[in-house]
Amino acid sequence: MRVLVVEDEPDLQKQIKHALVEAGYSVDAASDGEEGGFLGDTEPYDAVVLDLGLPKVDGISVLKNWRQNERNMPVLILTARELWNEKVSGFDAGADDYLTKPFHMEELLARVRAIIRRSAGHASPLLECGPVLLDTRTGKVTNDGESITLTAHELKVLSYFMHHQGRVVSQTELIEHIYDQDFDRDSNTIEVFIARLRKKLSPELIKTHRGRGYSMVSPEPTQPS
Ligand code: CA
Repeated sequence: MRVLVVEDEPDLQKQIKHALVEAGYSVDAASDGEEGGFLGDTEPYDAVVLDLGLPKVDGISVLKNWRQNERNMPVLILTARELWNEKVSGFDAGADDYLTKPFHMEELLARVRAIIRRSAGHASPLLECGPVLLDTRTGKVTNDGESITLTAHELKVLSYFMHHQGRVVSQTELIEHIYDQDFDRDSNTIEVFIARLRKKLSPELIKTHRGRGYSMVSPEPTQPS
């Protein structure tokens, strides 16, 4: 999952970015509304953390522009405690959630997790596909109840599939959602990650659709005889 952070306070931006990276997200950061607005317009993000008080272009205008351009990624806005009306304008502009400064990083992470899974149509933080279970709060994966150890990149790929079960995900889409902007992207590694996931979990879990991409489909439950 790939997240954009738009925050002009350098220390806070660094802390948020660090916390998100630690939690397993690929993160791009921008320090003003112009750069942030552009990134949100041109790159596919699974969520955005958007400060409202920004240089060049304010956060509300950035958000309004995205929504006008039909950029529908979930957005968590950061508001100043004393400006209660910012929340109202934020929701009216198309925000999905808000957090008042100062906040605990744990709460930011929980809200980001929630807006990502809700936008993908999942109500529960536990994602399930047949025997495979992913706890989005901890990044823990089990297969038939057995704990599975995945590398950070394998987990990113699995998490994207678990959020988007039942539809074909192209290799390009996968690459855009598991790597940040500065990462040296190599499509060959995607095949390697998928091969490793099949080996560690189940050979049938991820299907290849020749020329189109991959999909994760829950196996049919076996009929009791
Ligand atoms: Ca600010």
